[in-house]
Amino acid sequence: MHNASTLPCDQVQQALFLYIDHELPSEQEYWSFQIHFKECPDCTEVLIYESNALSLMQDLLRSSCNEAAPEELLEKIRQQTETLAGQSQVQFFS
Ligand SMILES: [Zn+2]
Repeated sequence: MHNASTLPCDQVQQALFLYIDHELPSEQEYWSFQIHFKECPDCTEVLIYESNALSLMQDLLRSSCNEAAPEELLEKIRQQTETLAGQSQVQFFS
């Protein structure tokens, strides 16, 4: 099903945050990612999951701008990141 021009899944998932943050080095790479997501429901699922996680964190950061307890927020984010990291790994190796 996969043709030679598509990226391998592990490469896509490793560089997923670069894709979400628009930090990939070239247009070519965005195309490669988009082609891969079209063909690969597994990576699309991870993409959606990571995108949601990222916007959740950004929401946390935004909503806490006026709060007086930044260390509490950092702790929240740290826990969230650890949870995500654990879940991502399960997904990566399933
Ligand atoms: Zn894939």
